[in-house]
Order: sequence, then C-alpha cells, then structure tokens
Amino acid sequence: MFVDKVRITVVGGRGGDGAVAFHREKYVASGGPDGGDGGHGGSVVLRVSDHMSTLLDFRYKRKYAAQAGANGQGRKMSGKRGENLIIQVPRGTVVRDAATNQIIVDMSTGEDFVLAKGGRGGWGNAHYATPTRQVPRFAKAGIAGQERDVVLELKLLADVGLVGFPNVGKSTLLSVTSNARPKIANYHFTTLFPNLGVIFVDEGVSFVMADIPGIIEGAAEGAGLGHDFLRHIDRCRLLVHVVDVSGSEGRDPVTDFDAICAELHDYSVDLSNRPMIVAANKTDLLPPDSDNLERLRKHVEELGCELYEISAGTTQGTRNLMWVAAEKLRTLPPVTVYEADYVAPEIETGDPNALEIEHFGNTWVVTGKWLERLIYNINFDDYESRNYFDTQLHKCGLFARLEEMGIQDGDVVDVYDMEFEYQR
Ligand code: GDP
Ligand code: MG
Repeated sequence: MFVDKVRITVVGGRGGDGAVAFHREKYVASGGPDGGDGGHGGSVVLRVSDHMSTLLDFRYKRKYAAQAGANGQGRKMSGKRGENLIIQVPRGTVVRDAATNQIIVDMSTGEDFVLAKGGRGGWGNAHYATPTRQVPRFAKAGIAGQERDVVLELKLLADVGLVGFPNVGKSTLLSVTSNARPKIANYHFTTLFPNLGVIFVDEGVSFVMADIPGIIEGAAEGAGLGHDFLRHIDRCRLLVHVVDVSGSEGRDPVTDFDAICAELHDYSVDLSNRPMIVAANKTDLLPPDSDNLERLRKHVEELGCELYEISAGTTQGTRNLMWVAAEKLRTLPPVTVYEADYVAPEIETGDPNALEIEHFGNTWVVTGKWLERLIYNINFDDYESRNYFDTQLHKCGLFARLEEMGIQDGDVVDVYDMEFEYQR
C-alpha cells in the first residue's frame, strides 16, 4: 500500500519575558517590585479531520509555529498567553521523530495531541522579592517553545473508486487528473501503484482515487486482489462510473452501464449502493450523428445519477469532473471505519540516571533527555505539578548526587533555562 510522507517542522511559541518594574505612586517613596510574568507561548496541536485524506497541503507549508506569549508588564500584569496552533491531519496519520524515526503518535483515535509545547513565560521581578532581596532588578526571560522535526505518514486509501468496462479510459482519466500537476510531481504513483492517484483540486481540497478494475474485469483478475486493495473498496465513498460513449469499439453505452451496475451488485450490494456519478468518456470520438450520449444521459438521469461529459484523451471536462467529485465528497459522511495499522510503542523517555551535571561557581547546570521531557510535562503554575517535579528529582537521585559533588545551600540549580535556589 502506498504511504505518503512529508517532513515538517513545528515550533511552540516562545514564552513572554517577565517584567522588571517598581510600584510607583504619588507620595510613596519607593514602591516594591511589581513586574508581571510573561505569558506562556502557544502550543502546536494536532487534530484529526475526517474531511482530509491526503497530506498534500503539507507540501505547501513546511514550518508551523504557534504564537508567542506577550511580555509581562508593570503593576503585576501578566502577558497574554500565545494562541495554540491547531494543525489538521487526516485520520490515521502517523507522526514520527525525523531524527530517530520513532513513532510519536498515531492520530487514529481522534484525540488532540500536543506536538510542540509552548515555552513558559518568564517570571516578573515581583516573584523575586525576598526578605533579604527587596529590590530585585531582574526578571526571567521567557523560554523558547519546543521545536521538533517530524515526519507525517499516511497510508493512502481511496475516497473515489473508478468503475467501468476495460478500455473505457479509467487509467487515462486517473493519469490526466492525478499526475498532470507539476506541484505534485513528488508523487510517483504510476510506478508504485498504478491504480491509485492523489487528485489535487485546490489548496485544502484533494482526494485519493483508485481504479478498481479487478472486480469487473472477471473473476480471475478479481481473485488476485489483496487485502490492501479491498480496503480501498471498503473505504471509497463515491463511485465514478466511466462509460465509453463513442461507440468506437462497437458497444452500446446504455447496455454497458447496466452490465457494470449488475456486476457491482453481484460483487457487493454495499458497494453498489454507494453514490455514483457517471463520466461519459471519449466524447472527442463521438460521431456527430450519434445519439449515444443523449440516450445514456436520459437513462442515468432516470436512475437518479448525474452525467458529465469528458474526454480523458484530450482532458476536456476532466478538471470539472474532479471538482464535482470533490464537492460530492464534501457532502458525504466521513469514513466511519478506520483500521489503525500501527501500534505506537512507548516513547523513549531516557534514563534518569543519565543526567549530566556541570558547575560554574555557584550555579549547577543539569541536563539530560529524561529531564527535558519531564520539564515539558510540568505545569509550574500548579502546586501539585511542582510537587511531582520535586519528587521525581528526589527519586532519580539528583539531589544526592549534587550533595556528593558539594552543592551548598543557596546555590542555583539550572535546569533547561529554569533556576531554582537549592535548599537542603
Ligand atoms: P481502462 O482499461 O478503462 O483503464 O482504459 P485506458 O485508460 O487504458 O484506455 C483505453 C484506450 O482508450 C487507450 O488507448 C486510451 O488512449 C484510449 N482513451 C481513453 N480515453 C480516451 C478519450 O477520451 N478519447 C480517446 N480518443 N481515446 C481515449
Ligand atoms: Mg486500466
């Protein structure tokens, strides 16, 4: 099955800077520090959209950044929090870390996922007043948002199924609609999967179309269809029935149309009940005196189907047909059954014992993958979370190691841009 892949960069918004400000009021000699905190940066959040079935839109834009938090201000005014950036992805999109190839998340369940956290806002100087330090002339800068290079992967499944007799022009239609646009030259469907194409209609409007010849072209061919192919059939929400109206092969379009409908019905009642539009093809070969087109039109319209004239050979009408298909898909209910194929393994969290400690004078800088992850998952505005953080640091033996290395009360412990004053 063809897997579409695209690499993007996501960046959480930077936290706003804390403010250095002092309370000023008439007749009050010297006010206390009242610099407010910077707002937290927005996060980049992934959300499933059941109206998307390709990753084409990600080819136009590769970098996604959430809004930064605003800086704090005087009078303890906190900066505004940055807006989250919501990125919509097709259901079933699997997200991998570009560097390690590890699966970060499988977007099959429909739950939102925070892919890049916004940075915390810095504390304003109002926070730093202590009994011995009443005039703090410093505040913390906001910290940068998380930045990640990720690869989105999607197994392509057909939204539209092409049906019709052999040689009516199904493959031609697929090739002129899916490969004609230079912008999607990255796709190599014709070599990898001859029966599948991604159709670009407009930015934000694209779908997957598959030729499903096996069913109709005889049981012998149909028998060879694998599980992958059957999934395309299960999934497709719209059928495009291609009929050769030219009579160039000595056939009658109305008879052909009925024969295919009967075969579809025999193969699967469910499939034959899918919405269908009819593409009257090879109109360029239609003799001027032929009534084929009008007879077919009357016939299918009586059955409640719409007919569109095309010539896949000259591409006349094909673009319009794709617009119509996209418009129909938009109104059809989204796919309800989705079979997830990946089992997401535990995310590698890193070893708490692999923390590195360096010290410069009274400042102890601690780094390590585990710690980095921990920090990104802590809400430092919340007492419980801060407690949890503290417990985790105790548990992993960080404090014991620091003491062994000679840390003193009042020294500063710096972890990923945050500083704590050490107290035994
Ligand atoms: P399929 O078996 O339904 O996939 O049909 P193909 O796409 O392979 O087309 C069969 C033949 O019909 C090929 O030789 C195509 O070049 C030709 N063909 C397809 N569409 C048109 C058309 O609109 N006009 C003309 N003149 N020939 C066409
Ligand atoms: Mg073909």
